[in-house]
Amino acid sequence: MRAIVMGAAGFLGSHLTDRLISLGHTVLGIDNLITGSLGNIAHLDAEPRFDFLEHDITKYIDISGKVDGIFHFASPASPVDYLELPIQTLKVGALGTHNALGLAKAKGARLLLASTSEVYGDPLVHPQPESYWGNVNPIGPRGVYDEAKRFGEAITMAYHRYHGVDTRIVRIFNTYGPRMRPNDGRVVSNFIVQALLGEPLTVYGDGSQSRSFCYVSDLIEGIWSLFESDMHDPVNLGNPGEYTIRQLADIVLAATGSSSRIRALPLPTDDPKVRRPDISLASSILGWTPEIPLEVGLERTIAYFRELEARGRLERPPVLTG
Ligand code: NAD
Ligand code: UDP
Repeated sequence: MRAIVMGAAGFLGSHLTDRLISLGHTVLGIDNLITGSLGNIAHLDAEPRFDFLEHDITKYIDISGKVDGIFHFASPASPVDYLELPIQTLKVGALGTHNALGLAKAKGARLLLASTSEVYGDPLVHPQPESYWGNVNPIGPRGVYDEAKRFGEAITMAYHRYHGVDTRIVRIFNTYGPRMRPNDGRVVSNFIVQALLGEPLTVYGDGSQSRSFCYVSDLIEGIWSLFESDMHDPVNLGNPGEYTIRQLADIVLAATGSSSRIRALPLPTDDPKVRRPDISLASSILGWTPEIPLEVGLERTIAYFRELEARGRLERPPVLTG
């Protein structure tokens, strides 16, 4: 297969690219490097089955030759990033997804859209099954991401229904692992970097809000299984193990052996109070369940950030509030 990975220089896109190459496929990575880094794909420089195109997918995407699969992972994904880049986030979710679907239609390619648990907003149903329509504030600060992703799902289903494009939609729940940027701003990287630097761990609100954390290799296996399936409706992928943010802070402190203290900061506007995927659909149709426990995934992620630290590449991460 010749695949295109949009967002290939990002955290998930680079791991997905590695997996596709390991399966024997040829990959064209596309990225405008707005939140990604060439460092994430530098190890593929000498790989004959990998090519890279620096391009903003909100502009027309001109690709020669056959394309069999398109994986659309291009979008700022950290709240810190999408709050700094609101227009770019809306454009890549809307215009970028439109262009990606147009390319899929022209090439007869299968397209997989990376959607998100944020389509459920601050959920009133817990855990969240795919049948839940969500509780999103369209005009709140997070609306730029949530509504862009909801529009992305809507136009993907429209291209499937009206143009017969072969599409898949994955709703990804919080995923972590090596290659997250130390200054990405999401909770796992923030807490690890703060713990390693001996800085206070910034807990927003009272830390009672919950999230469910999936290790990146588990997620990538699920994405590949979904791509290979014939499921057109959205499918949740994530790890159902649920932790409060305060619990996560304590787990990171123990795992790093850090004596950092906790610093309480205000809860950001519309921050979801609970989040846990109902993965019964993925389990039944894909036979997929995540395997890496949080402690093991954190150990690998901490090792990655320790390496960056040894190379002097850690700095105090950004915080949303305070
Ligand atoms: P990331 O920021 O590391 O990667 C996103 C990549 O997309 C970056 O390399 C960025 O430069 C690129 N990009 C952004 N706008 C672009 C544009 N207009 N043209 C070309 N490239 C562009 O984030 P990530 O965590 O790897 O997320 C990847 C995808 O998965 C995103 O669509 C995100 O919404 C989705 N997702 C991720 C998570 C998670 O927990 N990691 C959860 C839910 C959904
Ligand atoms: N969070 C926190 N401190 C940080 C970063 C995040 O307490 O330094 C909290 C945030 O308020 C949210 C949770 O951790 O409740 C997950 O935040 P993240 O930015 O990782 O992603 P989200 O799940 O909100 O998209």
